[in-house]
Order: sequence, then structure tokens, then C-alpha cells
Amino acid sequence: MDDRQFRTAMGKFATGVTVITTELDGEIHGMTANAFMSVSLDPKLVVISIGEKAKILNKIKESKIFSVNILAADQQELSMIFAGQIKEPRDVVFDRLDGKPVLAGACAQVACEVSSAHVEGDHTLLIGKVTDIRLEEKEPLVFVNGKYRELAGIS
Ligand code: FAD
Repeated sequence: MDDRQFRTAMGKFATGVTVITTELDGEIHGMTANAFMSVSLDPKLVVISIGEKAKILNKIKESKIFSVNILAADQQELSMIFAGQIKEPRDVVFDRLDGKPVLAGACAQVACEVSSAHVEGDHTLLIGKVTDIRLEEKEPLVFVNGKYRELAGIS
């Protein structure tokens, strides 16, 4: 089993797409992530998995806060911006939820405080205690086999 085979297999798992946002010393930083999962209902916990090389990791460890923005089908460009797939710097306007930076127009904005961090291999799992949620009635962006997709024909 080589790295490519592992990546290809994991890419078969269709996911939504999120942008994780945090703020440190007045500066907002975002990163596209699909390694996101709900963990617990009582208390309300979620988990994200961030690579050790990602600049956002230390920022979240220091700020102890992050938001998960579940992107809508019309927000592929934001995913590409925060994944570094669009290189030219873009001005992105952020909203606030419970004082934390969030992206307007997302299907769901989930504001979190870091509850714990677990280093596993070359990623860190950050458990977030959910402090607030805002929802919009929109279709989600989908990612599978390394490509963006939109849901079609599902009711
Ligand atoms: P940077 O490379 O500094 O930032 C990423 C990009 O965001 C840069 O282009 C930067 O200009 C832009 N940006 C940041 N803040 C702002 C701002 N305030 N205003 C405007 N632009 C800004 N990696 C993981 O670790 N975990 C995952 O679960 C994961 N899932 C992914 C899912 C998908 C669909 C894709 C495409 C990528 C995923 N990645 C994941 C990879 C990750 O998104 C990239 O490696 C990312 O570039 C690493 O970000 P960074 O924190 O190092 O920040």
C-alpha cells in the first residue's frame, strides 16, 4: 500500500467542504478542510484534523477558538481561496458569530472553543466545544475523488 493508493481510497469518501477560520491578534486566518465530524451531542463537540505544516494550526492553538463554515454549493471559489488553489490574494469579508470570524453565505457556521488537541501521526485532531450555530437554507458543496461536485436530483 503506497501513499497514492491510500489517498485514492480516502478520496472515495464523499464529504462536504468547510473553511476553518480563527483570529489571532486581530488577524483572521482561514483554511479549507474536509476532515470534519460531529463528535458528541451532550456536550456539543466537533472534531477537525489539521496537518502539522498548516499555518493555521499554531494560530488555533494560541487563540483557542475556531469556526467551522460548511460551504454552500455556490462557494467553491472560497474553498479554492482558502486551500491556496487560487494564488492571487483576495479580499474576503468575514461576519461574526459569538465574536468569532465566520463566512457569510455558508450553509452552517459553527463557532467553537478548543476543548482538547490530540497529535496523531502528521495531523492534530482539535476537539471544539460548540458555543453557537447559525444556519442558512442552502445546498452544500460536495468533494469526492479530488473534485468539487454539487448535489443533483436529491429531494
Ligand atoms: P495558508 O496557506 O497560509 O492559507 C491558505 C490560503 O488561504 C492562502 O492562499 C491564503 O492566502 C488564504 N487566506 C488565509 N486567510 C485569509 C484571509 N483572511 N483572507 C483571504 N485569504 C486568506 N488540510 C488539512 O490540514 N486538513 C483538512 O481537512 C484538509 N482538507 C482539505 C479539503 C479540500 C477540499 C482541499 C482542497 C484542501 C484540504 N486541505 C486540508 C489542505 C489545506 O486547505 C491547504 O493545505 C491549505 O493551503 C493549508 O493552509 P495554511 O493554514 O497552511 O494556510
